[in-house]
Amino acid sequence: MKVSIIGTGYVGLVSGVCFAELGHDVVCIDTVKEKVRDINAGEPPIFEEGLEDMLRRHLSNGSFHATTDYGEVPGTDVTFLCVGTPSHEDGSLDLKYLLRAAEDLGRALQEKKGRHVVVVKSTVPPNTTRDVIGPMVLRASGKGQEEIGLVMNPEFLKEGMAVHDFLNPDRVVIGASDDRSFEEVASLYHGLEAPILRTDTSTAEMIKLASNAFLAARISLVNELGNICKALGLDFRQVARGVGMDPRVGPLFLKAGCGFGGSCFPKDVKSIRAQARSLGTGTDMLDATLAVNEKQPRRMVELLEKRMEIYGRTIAVLGLAFKPGTDDIREASSLVVVPELLRKGANVRAYDPQAMPNFRREFPQLNYCSSVKECLEEADAALILTEWKEFADPSLYTNVLVVDGRGITKTNNYEGICW
Ligand code: NAD
Repeated sequence: MKVSIIGTGYVGLVSGVCFAELGHDVVCIDTVKEKVRDINAGEPPIFEEGLEDMLRRHLSNGSFHATTDYGEVPGTDVTFLCVGTPSHEDGSLDLKYLLRAAEDLGRALQEKKGRHVVVVKSTVPPNTTRDVIGPMVLRASGKGQEEIGLVMNPEFLKEGMAVHDFLNPDRVVIGASDDRSFEEVASLYHGLEAPILRTDTSTAEMIKLASNAFLAARISLVNELGNICKALGLDFRQVARGVGMDPRVGPLFLKAGCGFGGSCFPKDVKSIRAQARSLGTGTDMLDATLAVNEKQPRRMVELLEKRMEIYGRTIAVLGLAFKPGTDDIREASSLVVVPELLRKGANVRAYDPQAMPNFRREFPQLNYCSSVKECLEEADAALILTEWKEFADPSLYTNVLVVDGRGITKTNNYEGICW
């Protein structure tokens, strides 16, 4: 099929390149010229394992390209909306980029002969596809309902493993307004061994938000139990092993640490909470999930403070990305820990294999290093905030106190966040 994708961020670019890998003809559209230029030069503006090679392969065989021109939409069969949906102050999702994209898409569809399928892949509050995006596309395109198929197809990829996850999904959820649109979108995923769940568009939207709320709540519970274990002198990692043997719990996602971040969990939990509040429904679990998570990165600084006076010390921050395998720093623990260290008068050195350019834009005053070793030179303590494998080697840390927020290493002079 011929596929157009609006937005070339983590979701749009990965989806685009992976749909090309699945044999489709793909054009990705973004309003940022520099991104489009870099993508067409084979240089993804984001880091994801395997993305660059796959992008270059499909650019050269002609099955993928990027453009700023919505005029290419009418030449395709289906369009995915993959633009960002950031938070408003009150936690509700800001749909301005999506509305703009939907309007431009609708206008472009005025030139389309015949039927077109519009798929919302951005994460949106329940009922948005049906009540907001669908009507907007119809209005802007001047087309009738029978000419536009409307689908909500949430994306579950994990940054850091995005290409792998897209091509090996646990499930594909397709919320469709009609049978034909469902079949068309399902056919795009032919070749993948995943169960396909068909729902209506609003249920698909809620599945995405509920999945992230569930995972975020699990992390906050794990972190709270981990903090209790530490106070009891127990190692939560062992406790988690025992708990995870219960099949009702399962062994995955039981790692305690210095908090969750990224562009999805915090934002999506806040979004569903804001929507619940507007409906007058209680949100005690969601409130607690976020409250625990706000405190957890600060615990790293508290643990350090128990061991040394921070003022005037040189502190190595290892890991700036919100998780390994990505350069994304959105809502990362580092964004809480670093300002706290600076406020307390530390001299901060930092190292991350991928995220330093993004972090430097917000904190140009840090001393950025080119390796773990260099970062640890002259440091009085190291704070491990991201689970990058290269931070694991205990021999790196012979002369320095380590406060480990991810349970990745063990040395003589060591403080674990929950063990
Ligand atoms: P992103 O910020 O990385 O990328 C969004 C892109 O859209 C940018 O390149 C931007 O320039 C472009 N854009 C904005 N307005 C546009 C317009 N009118 N026309 C064309 N392009 C436009 O965002 P992301 O992380 O890829 O997330 C996209 C959506 O997917 C969000 O709703 C997010 O919640 C959801 N999501 C993200 C992830 C993830 O891991 N990042 C996972 C699942 C779902």
